[in-house]
Amino acid sequence: MGIMTVNPTTLETIKSFPPLTAEDIQSKLNVAESAFATYRHTSLSERSQWLMRAANRLEDPALSQQYATLMTLEMGKPIQEALAEVQKCAWVCRYYAEQAPLFLANQSIETDAQRSWVCYQPLGIILAVMPWNFPFWQVFRFAAPALMAGNVGVLKHASNVPQCALAIETILLEAGFPQGVFQSLLISAQQVEAVVKDRRVQAATLTGSEPAGASLAAIAGSQIKKTVLELGGSDPFIVLESADVDLAVATAVKARLLNTGQSCIAAKRFVIVDAIADQFLPKFIAAFADLTLGNPMETQTDIGPLATPAILEELEQQVQTAITHGAQLLIGGQRWSGLPGNFYQPTILSDITPDNPIYHQECFGPVALVFRVPDLATAITLANDSPFGLGASAWTTVSQEQDQLIQELEAGAVFINGMVKSDPRLPFGGIKRSGYGRELGIQGIHEFVNIKTVWVK
Ligand code: NAP
Repeated sequence: MGIMTVNPTTLETIKSFPPLTAEDIQSKLNVAESAFATYRHTSLSERSQWLMRAANRLEDPALSQQYATLMTLEMGKPIQEALAEVQKCAWVCRYYAEQAPLFLANQSIETDAQRSWVCYQPLGIILAVMPWNFPFWQVFRFAAPALMAGNVGVLKHASNVPQCALAIETILLEAGFPQGVFQSLLISAQQVEAVVKDRRVQAATLTGSEPAGASLAAIAGSQIKKTVLELGGSDPFIVLESADVDLAVATAVKARLLNTGQSCIAAKRFVIVDAIADQFLPKFIAAFADLTLGNPMETQTDIGPLATPAILEELEQQVQTAITHGAQLLIGGQRWSGLPGNFYQPTILSDITPDNPIYHQECFGPVALVFRVPDLATAITLANDSPFGLGASAWTTVSQEQDQLIQELEAGAVFINGMVKSDPRLPFGGIKRSGYGRELGIQGIHEFVNIKTVWVK
């Protein structure tokens, strides 16, 4: 697949872009290098002002509509969700514009020196390899802290969202960031290696699949360059007897199907205790049956197309294989043919045994896996029986149970009586095969800085 916009609703090719040549990449890195030489000396207040202006652009009603439409055109998310995504990008810009001076302030530490402290300095050019599922949010949550810290960014965005990549570069440029501080490189995945190996590139962050993360980390490791990896997830959603069933069902549907199910932190495994399963499951199935599939540009659409034909094929294959291994289909399980694009019906599977391949897989689309368990201990064991460890949501009003879940769930985040979501104020990231490092919060801005120790006598 080349670098191109293909409308996933109609399968029409809208625009293609030739990948940059090796010389093009060199000249972009030259520009980035010379931009860093001066940008690193800009003040935090200048950077804050530029980031605030970027937020203003994202909040401008006409521009935000334009950006949301572009996302929906390129990867098919329902337009209302795209509009919300643009607003969330403005939020992360304002958050770091306001908080970075605090996060990056020198920290005095008493030692045998007259004065000793820690200061935070930028590293240089940081490469961001980003996925298509949140084509604006993933980029802004990298760019806002990285640029505030004084780094410069180069973006290799997913090949199916090139116009989003270019739009983000323009937003930051028009907000006032100097030329070269943030550039989109329209390159293929195979061209990433040369960028990582370039001596001027100091570190890399990747959000995407395990194979992509492993490949990037291996190359970066060979060059002794730091990486942050935000990879897949198969988050559990545990419902215990004391849960508010109606609220848990409504949240479960949203947590599974936001972005047509294509979210790393979507709830993917629904672990329900027997005592409440007969109340929860019929309502969960009924809510799936009630959703509107259709053109994602229309505001009443709940479920749009999957982003690419390959994702649709993989999901369909996963469900079929699961059924041949004994899973029961509670609803869905088919393509939806109301429009020509990559549509798949919201689907629920149950009776999934550990020897079923889907038990350990991530389903990147509108497919929920349901497990009935006798008690809390079994729920936690099942939740942790996964190669992933990104987020977990659990529903109970019993504080002892809440404590046990918080303590024992193997995940980068635990949300009690709420769905897992990202928030600029809270660190975001996983453990196990979901990756390492953190984005957002104070932890996110400290990933790509030189934490310099200073000792003076
Ligand atoms: P993907 O294929 O890994 O693509 C992500 C990015 O990596 C794209 O820019 C892609 O470029 C690039 N890429 C692919 N192979 C590469 C390689 N060998 N070397 C360097 N770059 C490479 O991921 P996806 O399947 O599109 O996205 C879905 C996955 O991302 C899911 O597993 C999901 O859970 C995960 N995800 C994680 C988070 C998180 O924060 N943890 C957030 C969102 C998504 P091309 O498009 O050119 O191939």
